[in-house]
Amino acid sequence: MNLILIGPQGSGKGTIAKKIANDFGLVPISTGDLFREHIAKGDELGVIANSYISRGNLVPLDLTMKILKARLKKADCKAGVILDGFPRTLEQAEALKKVLNVDCVINLTLERKDCIKRMLSRRVCPNCGKVFSTILDRKRKCDSCGAKLVQRDDDKLDAIKTRLEVYDKTTTPLIDFYSDRLLKVSAAGSPDGTYKPVKNFLTKLGRRK
Ligand code: AMP
Repeated sequence: MNLILIGPQGSGKGTIAKKIANDFGLVPISTGDLFREHIAKGDELGVIANSYISRGNLVPLDLTMKILKARLKKADCKAGVILDGFPRTLEQAEALKKVLNVDCVINLTLERKDCIKRMLSRRVCPNCGKVFSTILDRKRKCDSCGAKLVQRDDDKLDAIKTRLEVYDKTTTPLIDFYSDRLLKVSAAGSPDGTYKPVKNFLTKLGRRK
């Protein structure tokens, strides 16, 4: 089973992707995380990607397909994948058609004011990548590895506004593109509340396959 998660920034795609991966044995792939790995290494791809990411803009198609295809080629992906943050444009969805058969697209919905609130409160561990919220966790240090938490450059207000504008303009057309395999779920509540209908749906889908 191969899935896609779409939803505006702050809707909790990463959290839901991990829950699905755990319960259904799928490999979660976040293109944002793949880019951040390259940025942390300081390699050429990371330097180029960061010039787009730090401003809240999308990385060009060729570079994005390059990192995605490389990840999909790894043996663990045979079990099925859950894509978080890809595709983000119709162009990417067309390119994906050639490399992956998608069974279901989960569309998380959240009001823009809540997206902004959640993103401004997000802190990440620069060492292990664990994500925290200043509202829910109120931590300054990572509870797994002890590193001081930081705010991502693209979680600052100007970049957030750009990212949401980009999402509305380029990513929402995907909802029509995938209308024959779409599950729409509100992400306004808790992660567990959001996940419940997703899990029910995927359990039924898994039985049919
Ligand atoms: P995310 O962690 O998914 O919010 O991604 C962080 C940033 O990485 C985005 O704001 C984009 O700059 C870049 N990025 C992630 N996924 C893609 C994609 N599918 N296409 C282009 N850029 C992407």
